[in-house]
Amino acid sequence: MDGTILVINCGSSSLKIALFDQQLNKLASGLAERLGKDDAFATLQGRQEPVRLPAGAGHKEALNALTSALQGCGLLDDVPAAIGHRVVHGGETFRKAALINDNVLAAIKDCADLAPLHNPVNLAGIEATTALFPGVPQAAVFDTAFHQTLPRKAYLYAVPLQLYRDWGVRRYGFHGTSHQFMVNESARILGKTQATTSIISAHLGNGCSITAIRDGISVDTSMGLTPLEGLVMGTRSGDVDPGLFDFLSVKGMASQEVHRLLNNDSGLLGLSGQTNDMRTLCELADHGHEPSQTAIDVFCFRLARYIGAMMASLTQLDALVFTGGIGENSSLVRRKTLAHLTLFGFTIDDELNDQHGSISDGQIEGADSQFRVLVIPTNEELVIAREALAAAGPGIAD
Ligand code: AMP
Repeated sequence: MDGTILVINCGSSSLKIALFDQQLNKLASGLAERLGKDDAFATLQGRQEPVRLPAGAGHKEALNALTSALQGCGLLDDVPAAIGHRVVHGGETFRKAALINDNVLAAIKDCADLAPLHNPVNLAGIEATTALFPGVPQAAVFDTAFHQTLPRKAYLYAVPLQLYRDWGVRRYGFHGTSHQFMVNESARILGKTQATTSIISAHLGNGCSITAIRDGISVDTSMGLTPLEGLVMGTRSGDVDPGLFDFLSVKGMASQEVHRLLNNDSGLLGLSGQTNDMRTLCELADHGHEPSQTAIDVFCFRLARYIGAMMASLTQLDALVFTGGIGENSSLVRRKTLAHLTLFGFTIDDELNDQHGSISDGQIEGADSQFRVLVIPTNEELVIAREALAAAGPGIAD
């Protein structure tokens, strides 16, 4: 298989890979989890038997095993033509994907302050592929880059400006590849150019964020300095009163405990006391479990408030778009959320909503809706592959 593009997404204890051909058709994908633990394991999609990993395997061993398995299936030649890496934080340095070289690596390290849990593992992934495939062009594709077009009024917090100047304290935004894909797809579906397409993009997965995109560029977004701000998420609180930190510290909680509470124990999990999984919550609520119903209610109301807030950044709205595991699959969440927004003139077609969007274009709005409402499956890997192909430059298939 000539000229394949390998996409790598390293999490703290996981690694996802995907392989595309030059026409950006997905050929394969794989996953390694529990890296660093004795029961680390890896699988290739569509293959029953797991890929063998040594006990305690890290990112490098997992990558070795998964790429060997791809080579074993004849999908990957000796080396790929280009490699794309998801990198979480590009700070203000990166406004688009970058071809990796020593300067880019140093700049990604510099941003590690802003994403201490993510950038170092992303760098570990880059090191591993560099060792495995020396000389192959590699691109870093940043979660934050798409939001670098935010105007100053949208990215500054109302704290002393010195914090921004000295330490880069500002709103950065995340899920950029997904929001970018939403505007690409919306423009295609609506028959417009991207430069004239304005949407509100709601990415609702285990992490959730919403972005206002005006004339193809991001102008406001709900996540901030870190991915904790904004919507209710699986285990993250989203917005809370900043006074809560002080309140909890007076109650005796150390800052690490507060961090854990807000990042790992809150959101849908914290409210329901049961799970961060929306599908399970919907089932529990159906059986009368009140805390699960409350979690769903808070989730949808916060989302509706943010949809309203995003209107302030737009002068036209071509579509409200739902994506991510919840956005694509939960007709209940979409219906409950839009029920809060009748004042804006949103209506929903229950039949289309229940089938998660019309087959032709993902439509779920009612015939009398003021605005289009679409369900569009996200494809972050495809955006990373596309960016890697572009960054690696012409002629890589030769
Ligand atoms: P993601 O992080 O994009 O994979 O999304 C994960 C979230 O999507 C979890 O909360 C899942 O419960 C949720 N999800 C997936 N399928 C469904 C479904 N059919 N109904 C409700 N939530 C779903």
